[in-house]
Amino acid sequence: MTAKHPQQTTYDIVIIGGAIMGASTAWFLTEDKDFDGRVLVVERDPTYETCSTMHTNSCMRQQFSAELNVRISQFAADFVKNLRRYMGDDDRVPELSIRSFGYMYLADNDDFANVLRESQKTQLAAGTATQLMTAEQIKAAYPFYNVDDIVLGSINLVDEGYWDGSAVFDWWRRSSRERGVEYIENEVVAMTRTPAGTRVESVTLKSGEVISCGQVVNASGPRAARTARMAGIDVPVEPRKRFSWIFSAENPLDRDLPLTIDPSGVHVRENGGGTYQCGGHADVDPVVDYDDFNMDHALWENQIWPILATRIPQFEAIKVQSEWAGHYAMNVFDHNAIMGPHTEVENFIFLNGFSGHGLQQSPAMGRGTAEYLVHGEYRALDMSPFNFERIPAGRKIIEKAII
Ligand SMILES: Cc1cc2nc3c(=O)[nH]c(=O)nc-3n(C[C@H](O)[C@H](O)[C@H](O)COP(=O)(O)OP(=O)(O)OC[C@H]3O[C@@H](n4cnc5c(N)ncnc54)[C@H](O)[C@@H]3O)c2cc1C
Repeated sequence: MTAKHPQQTTYDIVIIGGAIMGASTAWFLTEDKDFDGRVLVVERDPTYETCSTMHTNSCMRQQFSAELNVRISQFAADFVKNLRRYMGDDDRVPELSIRSFGYMYLADNDDFANVLRESQKTQLAAGTATQLMTAEQIKAAYPFYNVDDIVLGSINLVDEGYWDGSAVFDWWRRSSRERGVEYIENEVVAMTRTPAGTRVESVTLKSGEVISCGQVVNASGPRAARTARMAGIDVPVEPRKRFSWIFSAENPLDRDLPLTIDPSGVHVRENGGGTYQCGGHADVDPVVDYDDFNMDHALWENQIWPILATRIPQFEAIKVQSEWAGHYAMNVFDHNAIMGPHTEVENFIFLNGFSGHGLQQSPAMGRGTAEYLVHGEYRALDMSPFNFERIPAGRKIIEKAII
């Protein structure tokens, strides 16, 4: 049962949004020996029904083109595989593993094949096990694919695949609560700034309380821009709809299906027991209303399933078991994380814009944000390239492996 009202009127840190990013940050704050401040996590919907975290594919990959993104996923793999150790060898914490069926990127033209080749160099230098495969090699290892149009594939079978994101999420919340973090069911509806305008002074809750705060973290997912507006700030994050389908195959594949990224952008992965999870979106990809989770049923019949059945002919006979629409918090500036302080409102900290890869980034993002909140700098991994300041400066991070 989550309380609705805060116990105090002043907190050192107020985190707006208590899903995976807010929970990670709160937990890493409790890990820092130099921090003994008060933390309030405000979550408008403790059922988490519509947040991105609940709609995820729950997969991680090491195949990014930017080295920092690779390093972030390497920490995610280490954290997941050693969750219990990170949680102080608490024997209530489950031992987790990664189901490493790999991500199979398929290129149907030389330009994208060259991107895969360049990315592999960065990944290998960072210590990943990425392999490039010709169409013949793909066909030999995974005979179910139609590779007629494929120029090159790229796959990594180490620390790349499904992991139990909800277990990590649950333990971050449970452990940080046990250590004194307050989670409340409420909504931040307004903020005030100091007379000079350089700091957020207070946040106002829907229930009417006004809370003074030392620092504020915007961990509000697809609602990031709405939250930032309350402090008079703009951030280029929009809710974009992404559809998922779980289906069973009449003739299941005889080996694990990698998370396959078809050149069309449609992706599909192993889901166990002869079932598969597929994701995609419409060609027209507008910003949507925060509460719009309507399913586009025609999309499956007219676009997604034909692509699947062409790539994997065994998927001509399948039955959809469940389907849902979720929101990416799309960073429309450069599709990468937005972190760190605002350039003028110095105690407003961003943790936004994770598009389709926030779950796997949550350990490194929470750790980095906690470091910044306590020490004013990143320590374990330099996350400063992701700082908000790059946006007004017009400096984009180029990440070519965006799904
Ligand atoms: C279909 C789909 C598949 C995905 N697959 C993957 C994947 O395989 N791997 C991967 O790494 N990532 C994946 N992602 C992305 C990943 O799920 C997200 O990046 C991540 O969950 C973002 O977490 P978050 O905490 O930032 O946002 P959210 O989970 O959206 O949480 C934000 C929270 O803030 C709360 N909130 C908002 N405004 C307020 C307010 N004013 N007051 C109080 N509370 C507020 C909301 O209620 C919500 O709970 C996927 C996403 C989708 C949609």
